[in-house]
Amino acid sequence: MAPIHKECDYLVIGGGSGGLASARRASGMYGAKAIAIENKRLGGTCVNVGCVPKKITWSAASIAETIKEAKAYGFSVDTTAPFDWPMFKKKRDAYIKRLNGIYEKNLKNDKVEYLHGTASFVDTHTVKVLLDDNTEVSIKAKKILVAVGGHPAPAPNIPGGKLGINSDGFFDLETQPKKVAIVGAGYIAVEFAGMFHALGTETHLFIRHDTFLRTFDPMVSEKVTAEYERQGVHLHKSSSQSKVEDLGDGRLRVHYTDSNGAGSVEVDTLLWAIGRTPELEKLNLGVTNVAQNAQGHIKTDDYQNTNVENIFALGDVCDRGYELTPVAIAAGRRLADRLFGGQADAHLDYNLIPSVVFSHPTVGSIGLTEPQARKQYGDENIKVYNSSFTAMYYSMMEAEEKGPTSYKVICAGKEEKVVGMHILGIASDEILQGFGVAIKMGATKADFDRCVAIHPTSAEEIVTMK
Ligand code: FAD
Ligand code: NDP
Repeated sequence: MAPIHKECDYLVIGGGSGGLASARRASGMYGAKAIAIENKRLGGTCVNVGCVPKKITWSAASIAETIKEAKAYGFSVDTTAPFDWPMFKKKRDAYIKRLNGIYEKNLKNDKVEYLHGTASFVDTHTVKVLLDDNTEVSIKAKKILVAVGGHPAPAPNIPGGKLGINSDGFFDLETQPKKVAIVGAGYIAVEFAGMFHALGTETHLFIRHDTFLRTFDPMVSEKVTAEYERQGVHLHKSSSQSKVEDLGDGRLRVHYTDSNGAGSVEVDTLLWAIGRTPELEKLNLGVTNVAQNAQGHIKTDDYQNTNVENIFALGDVCDRGYELTPVAIAAGRRLADRLFGGQADAHLDYNLIPSVVFSHPTVGSIGLTEPQARKQYGDENIKVYNSSFTAMYYSMMEAEEKGPTSYKVICAGKEEKVVGMHILGIASDEILQGFGVAIKMGATKADFDRCVAIHPTSAEEIVTMK
């Protein structure tokens, strides 16, 4: 069949967080002729195998924790009743399917043409799209946005390594594993380990060092690691895996060494959560000479420009160091503002981006860690405020049931400008957003202190630190 030819102002490759936001703004707000290409499901990682199904599962895990804690408040609850994972998964899948439909409708409303197929470059202005029915569409575009995201890093090359699943596979699990091994030490490993454990799965978390979340402030890394151990997550420190055996019946035996020596554990599920890599395999990027860094991420400047004049990149595929949905969306909208909305300087400011780990308890973080702040400003110019306490929620519980709350505010210079804030404890995920606004506006410690506390809350500690 002869290829179909199309032309447009803006060709967006990747129907995920960043690509959809940029295409819709370019077309819906500024009238550019935009085409968006997606080869899996609309909404990308966040909607289908990321933030959304993860947060729903995290909510289920939080309810499981609350059910256990309810006893301390005088409720008679059956804490041994099983969690109906198959029913939960069915409802979660149905919700995601609804979202996929809403995303398609939104594209229609904003007059973005949507093609379902795989895009690959022919040259710097031409992209070939292979549709599901093998029809080939050749598109000539004035400007091209690469927003293809990433996928889980492959399993390590050890015997049986491929028997493990990754974060995508987590969302396909039809039944709840009784026993799971997770390898990794970042957002995903820590979030998944916390959810499995809270839902009653025996959870083994394998980390390479003594703590996890090591890119966060040391307070976060140390306290959340200690809290997981306190809760009963089986933490294997200084560990590595040598082999995975298939025991039949879906059971696996993972052979490892950790700080206690060599060992092995029999599990239903092994999950690798050891980072993500850009999804460039099918893009034929080589023909464009777009520059990439050593990890394969596309090099971009502050304006999401690549080294090729009409090609732009953003989101997880680019080298800006923030793999977060709101970052991809904001960068996508600003880029459309600049390219089609006449706003010559529009771009995302990558400073002071808040983020949250949906661990148990949650973590919120913005700005510099304490070691980074000391390095950047010098010890003598840094003042650090710390507060650790037991949230009032735990007042009705026995000592061994009480979780930690710790806050750190890092200030620089005589005026004590807040350059970093790191919090862990109940509702840290919700608390951080408002403080993020203040810190982005340049708040000082005195500004924090001037705000009257809201009592009784945990967050009031942040405006009363001495
Ligand atoms: P994506 O959303 O990955 O979209 C890229 C799209 O491009 C994909 O749909 C892909 O199928 C498509 N594509 C790739 N190649 C081609 C091709 N050649 N042709 C056509 N289409 C192609 N972030 C948060 O902010 N909060 C969270 O709580 C959070 N939780 C997460 C949990 C997990 C388990 C994971 C994995 C990620 C999480 N993230 C979270 C990160 C967030 O999902 C990503 O940062 C975000 O989705 C990146 O958006 P993007 O547009 O760059 O790429
Ligand atoms: P991360 O890059 O956050 O963490 C991966 C970590 O795993 C590494 O830092 C490393 O830690 C450890 N690791 C790497 N290789 C191995 C190995 N072979 N064996 C054991 N451990 C290993 O990746 P994730 O996959 O967790 O998440 C990817 C990104 O997705 C995140 O960076 C984040 O931006 C985004 N995301 C955001 C979420 C949110 O906003 N809540 C939730 C989930 C994901 P170490 O060096 O300590 O061993």
